[in-house]
Formats: sequence, C-alpha cells, structure tokens
Amino acid sequence: MNKFPRSAYVHIPFCHRRCFYCDFAVIPIGNKVETLGGYGSKTVKDYLHYLYKEILSIKHKSSLSTIYVGGGTPSILDPKQIKDLIDLFKENYGVDYGAEITMEVDPASFNQDDLYGFINAGINRFSLGVQSFNDQILEKSGRRHLSEDAEKSCLWLKKVYESGLIKSWSLDLIQNLPLSGFKEWNNDLKKTINFSPPHISIYDLNIENGTVFKKLIEIGKLKLPSEDEAFKNSESTNLILKNSGYSRYEISNYSIPRHQSRHNRVYWSGSGWWSFGQGSTSSPWGKKLTRPRVSEEYKKWVIGQCHRNLDSSLVNKDFVYKEIDEKIMLGLRLKEGVDIYEVLKEQNWGNKKFQINFCKLLKEWEKFLESGLLVRKGNRFFLSDPKGMELSNQILIAMFKWWDDIN
Ligand code: SF4
Repeated sequence: MNKFPRSAYVHIPFCHRRCFYCDFAVIPIGNKVETLGGYGSKTVKDYLHYLYKEILSIKHKSSLSTIYVGGGTPSILDPKQIKDLIDLFKENYGVDYGAEITMEVDPASFNQDDLYGFINAGINRFSLGVQSFNDQILEKSGRRHLSEDAEKSCLWLKKVYESGLIKSWSLDLIQNLPLSGFKEWNNDLKKTINFSPPHISIYDLNIENGTVFKKLIEIGKLKLPSEDEAFKNSESTNLILKNSGYSRYEISNYSIPRHQSRHNRVYWSGSGWWSFGQGSTSSPWGKKLTRPRVSEEYKKWVIGQCHRNLDSSLVNKDFVYKEIDEKIMLGLRLKEGVDIYEVLKEQNWGNKKFQINFCKLLKEWEKFLESGLLVRKGNRFFLSDPKGMELSNQILIAMFKWWDDIN
C-alpha cells in the first residue's frame, strides 16, 4: 500500500445530452460542439485548465502503467486535446512502455479522422458505448446515436484493431433496457459477436434517483423487462458469449484471452489509483477521496487543494486499509475471487479475534456455500458462474451485515 499509484483515471464530463438512465457527473453541451474554437469551446477549455492543474498538483508520483480517459463522452474532445492530456502524463509522471491507455468513445461523437487522431495521441484501447443496436431501444433510453452510427463505429474499431494500430477494444451494452425482451437482446448479442470485439462489457440497467427513468417509473410510464425476462436475458448472455469464446472474468466483463482490462482490474483488486476531474474518486492508498460533482465547486476545490498541497494530504504511507467490506465486494466480482485471509490480515487483529470474525463470516455465508452460489478453495472464495454471479447481491448483503455486526 505504500507505493505510489501506477494507474490514473481522468473524467471528461461533457456529453451532448443526458441519457435517460444516467446519473453521472456530466455537463450536457448540446449538439453543435467544436471543442477547439467554436461553440462549447470556452466551457471545455476552462474545465481542461483546472483538470491540468489538478494533474500537475501531485508531486510524489511513479510512472503509469494504465490511464483511463472516461466520462461523460471524452470523444467530444478534439484529438489535439486528447494528445495534450496524454503528453501531460508522459512529461510529468512518465508512462510505461506498453502501458494500457483507454478512452471511452460514443457512436456519433467521433468520425474516422478523429479515431486516427486519438490513436496518434497515444490511445491504444477504446471502449465503445453502444448500449444497444436497436433504434427503438436507443430512442426510449434517450441515447443520441442510431444503430447505424454504432455499426459504423464498430467497423472502424475492428479495422484499426485488426491492422495492429490499437491493442484492444471493448463493445459495451446495457442489459434490460426498456423494450429489450429476449428476442431484442439476442439480436444485440448476435450483432455484437459479428464485430468480434476482444472485450465486451454488459452492464445491468440500474434505476438511479434523479434520472428520467426513475421519474417515469414513479408515474407508471416505464415498462422494463420482467424478472423472468431479465433472467432469460442473463442466461442468453452467458451462453452466447461463452460459446463464442469469451470468458467472464468479472461480473460485467467478458474477454477473449489476454484482453482483460488491466485498468479495471486495479479497481477490483483494491490497488491504489489516481483520479482527476469533477465527480471522480481517487484512492491512492486505500482511502477514497471524491471530488465535487458540480463544475464551479470542482474548480474552487482544485484551487483550494493546490494551496493546501493536495499531494501531502493524500500521502500516508502507514495507512491501514479499513474498508474490508468493499475490498471483499470488489474481489468477489472477479472470476478468481478473493483470498479472505489476505484481506482480513490487514486488520492486524490478534489470532483469537481473527478466528472469531472469520467464523462469523463463514456462518453468514454457510447457505451460499451449501447451495453452490459461493465456492471455497482454501482461503479463496469466489462466485460460481453463472448462478453465483447472477445472485451476487444476496452474498454481498450477508457480508455487509457481518461487517456491520463486528464493528
Ligand atoms: S453518454 Fe454516457 S455519460 Fe453521457 S449522459 Fe449518456 S450515459 Fe451518461
């Protein structure tokens, strides 16, 4: 825990408009965006100014092995702005040879020239937010792109990947969007497979407070797939992707061999990471720090932190990781699960206390171990696939209860 983080997340909050299910820290800036000189450029440039300030405020740093430019819709930025960002890291942190540098892109927010520009800027992995290939589903979800845009983007990414210009790319879908019954979902999966992305993320739709979807549900105007349909959709996902050569290495993520996301594994493994930009959360040494979600407050925060020396407030080499429940939760998301002994050892409990608390956890998990949702191999515990992964919430709730009880 005392090494400097080797991964950095950068939040680019701009989107053309807000999708109906989204509660991220985003700034909708409309359709006519020219981020270098035209409409929208002042807002963007202003934000980037503070973002760079924050990135430069860190004094103790190691070279980076992963960078993830997420959002929002980072592909709204001009390739030159992405290059400046990557160069900032290269010049001030250092970036390892062979580092994974990912950028999220949304269909209809970039063209082929932009794509080559992003690659020239140093991006070697893309994560494409398709969500669905069905126009009706896209419209119902407030997405701005059409199926045609998504297909075009997939073809471009397939081409640059196959010609060796990038290391990998991911196609991202959302499961159980409105109108996405068994037939529609299977079509989405089949189209996805046709583009042979090396990595696929399948996120389950969550209804978040403050979103259009939440409002529509409250007034009875949003029909989502039933529990039965959702279960069948999940089964289909597993079957189709496994039969197509993908392995589920994390609850929401599938890949062909050697294409797991290195950056995301840093989060799930509980290692430290830097994070920059409004609303983002860093965890350099296990302790989390979330930045304000609103631009003006974020800017003030950056100025304040720079004055107070952000870096020294974060550097604490003796920090003991206390958020054990979260570490177990993240570990359980992974195919290889989590070594509970290793995690509990960090608490520095005496032998007796260690055994008592461990037994209490086993008690909470007893029924899941018996039913095969949870599997134990030595001190390592992992969710069975697909049953345990589908019903992970029950196992996590039992674990959170254990953690509350012993504290
Ligand atoms: S594009 Fe992504 S980040 Fe932007 S509003 Fe839609 S879901 Fe949210």
